[in-house]
Amino acid sequence: MLDQLEAQAPDALLALIKMHAEDPRQDKIDLGVGVYRTNDGATPVFRSIKAAEQRLVDTQDSKSYLGPEGDTGFVDALKPYIFGKDATMGGRVEGMQTPGGTGAVRLAVALAKSAGVKRIHLGVPSWPNHAQILQDVGVETSTFHHAKADGTADIDAVLDAIANAAETDSILLHGCCHNPTGVDYSAEDWARIADALVAKGMLPILDIAYHGLGNGLDEDVAGIRTVLAKVPEALVAYSCDKNFGLYRDRVGAFYMIAKDASDLPAITSNANALARANWSMPPDHGGAAVRTVLRDEGLTKQWLDELGEMRARMRRVRERLAAADNEVPGLNLAALGEQNGLFAILPLSREQITKLREDHGIYMAGSGRINVAGLHEGNTPKFIAALADVTAG
Ligand code: PMP
Repeated sequence: MLDQLEAQAPDALLALIKMHAEDPRQDKIDLGVGVYRTNDGATPVFRSIKAAEQRLVDTQDSKSYLGPEGDTGFVDALKPYIFGKDATMGGRVEGMQTPGGTGAVRLAVALAKSAGVKRIHLGVPSWPNHAQILQDVGVETSTFHHAKADGTADIDAVLDAIANAAETDSILLHGCCHNPTGVDYSAEDWARIADALVAKGMLPILDIAYHGLGNGLDEDVAGIRTVLAKVPEALVAYSCDKNFGLYRDRVGAFYMIAKDASDLPAITSNANALARANWSMPPDHGGAAVRTVLRDEGLTKQWLDELGEMRARMRRVRERLAAADNEVPGLNLAALGEQNGLFAILPLSREQITKLREDHGIYMAGSGRINVAGLHEGNTPKFIAALADVTAG
């Protein structure tokens, strides 16, 4: 049977990582991989996480199984950061731990399907795995444009998608720091989206993978809080892999917001059954480390400082790029200053992206997506000069 399988296309980003690793040029720049980097190009373990991990090593006395819901202390400790002051939303929210944000998205889509959702609307471009998950779970995907050419969100497109949707459709929205465009909805946009969702009676799936990497922890979820304050039901997928630097430990959470608290036991029992059939239970270590940080005032402060440093660094990179708008006409670098998070899309042709790689040692995804955290004071001038070179004429 197995010899009948057809080879799948290799992951383009992995091929790019390999090419970058093999490039001997000292001043090469990697803007491909989607992880945060410091000024020195490193992706270090957070000091707060290191300290929490040490405590876990010293004190953890069992690694016996938890249930499919994982570490509920971890899941509850995150709630106030996501949902705000009334972190339980009047008892209408229940959560569980998942293997990364990916596991949470997967569970959200699978649970929506169990609840009768047949089609999910997705703004494009999006994180490529969104479409793959929808396909793999077996729901239909309907796409709309996420961003306009001027580098702002296409609010009309999302409102049209909602207005023309069936009541049994769902919509998957990025909470903040949109991947790959960096283009987020404004506060006013979110209010209109919330009203449109209520008018349609549509179940939103909100994906938050970069919380705190945009404008601040509260600021980054203000939009989804606007939605959650209005809609009766919602599903939230959350990743701690960027904002706690835990990538390979696979730390995520999935929250279900019910119309009525009395609906939650049935809803969560379905989510538990789906988790059980998928991964049985999530890996523990990273979630336990996050719980340890968030239950300790000193470690929480340290984490907030570390996250604040990351955010400030990315804002500085974005400001530098925006300030070079005149040096590279036609790319609208100015818009990058208004956008959020790790990513931005530059409207470059395939040829220009190849020329950047071959002539300048600058590596980025074929879509023109750059990871702004790959840039710093030292290499930004080279990057801007290279952009001016490949776009000249
Ligand atoms: N959603 C989006 C939009 C993402 O960009 C990512 C990760 N790149 C995820 C979810 C999943 O994150 P994780 O690594 O925690 O699975």
